[in-house]
Amino acid sequence: MKILFLDQSGKPGGAELCLIDIAKPYRDRALVGLFADGSFKTLLQQNHIPVEVLTTQKIQVRKQSNFFQAFGSLTQLAPLIFKVAETAKKYDIIYANTQKALVIGAVASFLARRPLVYHLHDILSSEHFSQTNLRVAVNLANRFATLVIANSQASKTAFVQAGGKAEITQVVYNGFDGKLYQTSPAETQKLRQQLGVEKKFVVGQFSRLSPWKGQHILIDAIAQCPPEVTAILVGDALFGEQDYVKQLHQQITQLGLEKRVKFLGFRNDIPQLMAACDLVAHTSIAPEPFGRVIVEAMLCEKAVVAAKAGGATELVEHGINGFLTTPGESQELAEIINTCLQDQQTTATIASHARTTASQRFDVAHINQQIAELLLSCAK
Ligand code: UDP
Repeated sequence: MKILFLDQSGKPGGAELCLIDIAKPYRDRALVGLFADGSFKTLLQQNHIPVEVLTTQKIQVRKQSNFFQAFGSLTQLAPLIFKVAETAKKYDIIYANTQKALVIGAVASFLARRPLVYHLHDILSSEHFSQTNLRVAVNLANRFATLVIANSQASKTAFVQAGGKAEITQVVYNGFDGKLYQTSPAETQKLRQQLGVEKKFVVGQFSRLSPWKGQHILIDAIAQCPPEVTAILVGDALFGEQDYVKQLHQQITQLGLEKRVKFLGFRNDIPQLMAACDLVAHTSIAPEPFGRVIVEAMLCEKAVVAAKAGGATELVEHGINGFLTTPGESQELAEIINTCLQDQQTTATIASHARTTASQRFDVAHINQQIAELLLSCAK
């Protein structure tokens, strides 16, 4: 089966990293069409997945845009829509991996008469999107998609609550290659030395710097922990959220945590960095659609504490394979950090159990098989 994947992003977020795993088995007969140039293109090329940047024009629809802004930008998109429709004629399926890809892919699928699959990586609720964007996404998916793949039950539920068709929606979790998450103790020790955290209890937070990802909650929690507790913040402000980065630095200064919180920027060595941590914290203050970092921490055999909302609650069972805290509650988070600091034996047992179960549940070969079967039924 020949697939035209579409993704709006030039930079790799969770949806893009997931797409790499999905597109890999089809790389000799697929194309990933991007709506922006950047490091995601390079990552696809490194994975030998054919990629083409279909436009360099900025698509203006933002997550919170109103009807007139959305409509205005749609009229500018005609050249891109026709280009995608023309390209799609050489493929069996259009696979839209993001919301703007859905907008373009929906119209192109109609023009090229190709089935449309929409991979939903978002919780379509007003916490994350404007009413206009919600309506556009749900209506286009209902009208044009043969299949919606939701990345969690939480994403599916929000889609259906917003008016999406349940009967075309299937939940498929992200898949991971467990082998990529193994790091040798010597490598870990070296990295801890390089980071200057050999004698510290390191809490890692891995995500783009954005208010809803809640780095400020972790910083508040660190201030409530003993001095040996240190945090590393791994990730960049991917979507221009520089004001938030400034606020985080101010918060660190006010709390006197300059020596206890390190910003590492965007990194490609996530498994190694997770291995160098004692605990991984997921701190989103709005429901997380899936939460790749949670599964990655489990695969690295690291204890993970996650914010109890959205997809995270499908991944973590409190006290069994990780810990859950109320979103936005830094004191609760500090209590879990302190528990892990004091009882490292129990924490290690939980982490070990998490690794065993996660490597079975999220095995990429198994997940890709699920997707292959669903795509086959669409192409019929
Ligand atoms: N990530 C990365 N480098 C970084 C920070 C994050 O490669 O510096 C990866 C991380 O390992 C995870 C993804 O970005 O695979 C984030 O996915 P998640 O589902 O946690 O959040 P999203 O970005 O989709 O909101």
